[in-house]
Amino acid sequence: MHIHPRQAFLAHLAQTSPSPMNIHIVKAAGNYLFDADGNRYLDLIAGISVCNIGHQHPEVVAAVQGQAADFMHVMVYGETIQSPQSLFAHNLVQYLPPSLDCCYFVNSGGEAIDGAMKLAKRVTGKTDFVAQTDAYHGSSQGPLSLMSNDYYSQAYRPLLPSVHFIAQDDIQGLEDIPWSRVAAVVVELIQAERGAKLSGKEFIHSLRDKCNQHCSLLIFDEIQTAMGRTGTLFAFEQYGVIPDVLVLGKAIGGGMPMGAFIASHKLMQTLSQNPILGHLTTFGGHPVVTAAGNAALKVLIEEKLMDEVAGKEKLFRRLLDHERILAIHGKGLLLAIEFSNHEEVSALIQAMLLRGLFADWFLYAPHCLRIAPPLTISSDEIAFACSLITEILDEI
Ligand code: PMP
Repeated sequence: MHIHPRQAFLAHLAQTSPSPMNIHIVKAAGNYLFDADGNRYLDLIAGISVCNIGHQHPEVVAAVQGQAADFMHVMVYGETIQSPQSLFAHNLVQYLPPSLDCCYFVNSGGEAIDGAMKLAKRVTGKTDFVAQTDAYHGSSQGPLSLMSNDYYSQAYRPLLPSVHFIAQDDIQGLEDIPWSRVAAVVVELIQAERGAKLSGKEFIHSLRDKCNQHCSLLIFDEIQTAMGRTGTLFAFEQYGVIPDVLVLGKAIGGGMPMGAFIASHKLMQTLSQNPILGHLTTFGGHPVVTAAGNAALKVLIEEKLMDEVAGKEKLFRRLLDHERILAIHGKGLLLAIEFSNHEEVSALIQAMLLRGLFADWFLYAPHCLRIAPPLTISSDEIAFACSLITEILDEI
C-alpha cells in the first residue's frame, strides 16, 4: 500500500509537539536544505548546532561510505579495537589539555551527560549535583533531573533526588550549597536554550575553586558550544578554566548521532571496575559515526572555519539592525535575536520559511530567534538573510 511520507510522519511517528514544522526535506547540501515541493532554504540553525561544517561535506560522505563498506557494527563498545573509534579519540584529545585524554563515546548528548554524572558518583563517592536554573542537558531521566524548569520536569517526577539549582552567575549562592555531598557541578558556559546567555568568567572560576576545595567534579556541557561554534574549538578555551569532564554531542559526529564524555584516564578507569561492565553501550563509538566525526574534525581544522566565526558574528550583529530587535545575545555563531514576545518570533519564522530561510526559536526563550547556521555560511548569505529578516520585520 502506498502512503505519502507526510501522512506516515503524522500517523506513525511519535510527535514531540502539536505543531511540527512539517516540511518534507529531500536533500541537503552545503548551507542549504531542499524540500519535496522544490523549495530551497538557507539553513540558519544547522540542525540545532549540529551541521557546523555544512551539509554533506564530500569528505564526511566519503568517510561514511568507505567505513560502511568495510564494517559497521561488529561488537559492543569497549571490547574490540576499531580504528575509526580509537583514532578519533586520539585526534580529539590532541586539541585538549593533558587532563582530558580519555574519551567515552556514546550516541547522544543526553547520554553523555548521564555517563558523566555516573562517573562523578564513582570518582567522588558522593551523591548530589549542582545544576544551573533553566539549563537544558537532555531528555532522558538523568539530564532531566538537572532541569529546574517545572513545566518540563514535573510530569516525570520522581527524578534523581538531591539536585541543587543555582542561577547563572550567582556567585553568592554557591555559599549555600552542601558541598560535602556534591559529586559534580554540571554547567553550560553559554546557556543555549535560555537564549544564548553567556556565563561570566568570574562565576566559572568560582565554580572551579569550589570544586577544587570540596573534591567535586566540574562538568562542562559543551554539547552546543563546541566544535568551533563560538570561534574556538571548545568554548572553555575562552574562559581559562579546565573542567574535570568535558561533555560533547551534536556537531561532534559530523552529522551522525554521537556524544562523548572526556576526562582523565585515571578518572575514567573507575568505570571499568567494581562493578566491571558497570557502564555499557552497544553502539557508542560506532565505526561509521566515528569515521564521520574524524572527517568533520579534519575539515573544521583544515578549512580554518573557526577563524571566520568572529567576523561572521560581527556581520550578523551589524546587519540585524531593526527597531523591533531588542537585543542580540550569544557568542560566535550561537546567537539569540530577542523580540518582545513569542508571537512576533513565530510570525517572523513562518514568513522566513516561506521566503527560504530555515529558522527556529529557543526552548526557554521563545521570544528569541535562533541564529546558529553552519560555520560555512558566507558573507553574502549572511547579508541576504539579514536583509530578508529586516524586510519581513517591516511587513509583519
Ligand atoms: N545539552 C545541551 C546544551 C543541548 O543543547 C542538548 C540538545 N539540545 C543536549 C544537552 C542533549 O543532547 P541530545 O539531544 O543529543 O540528547
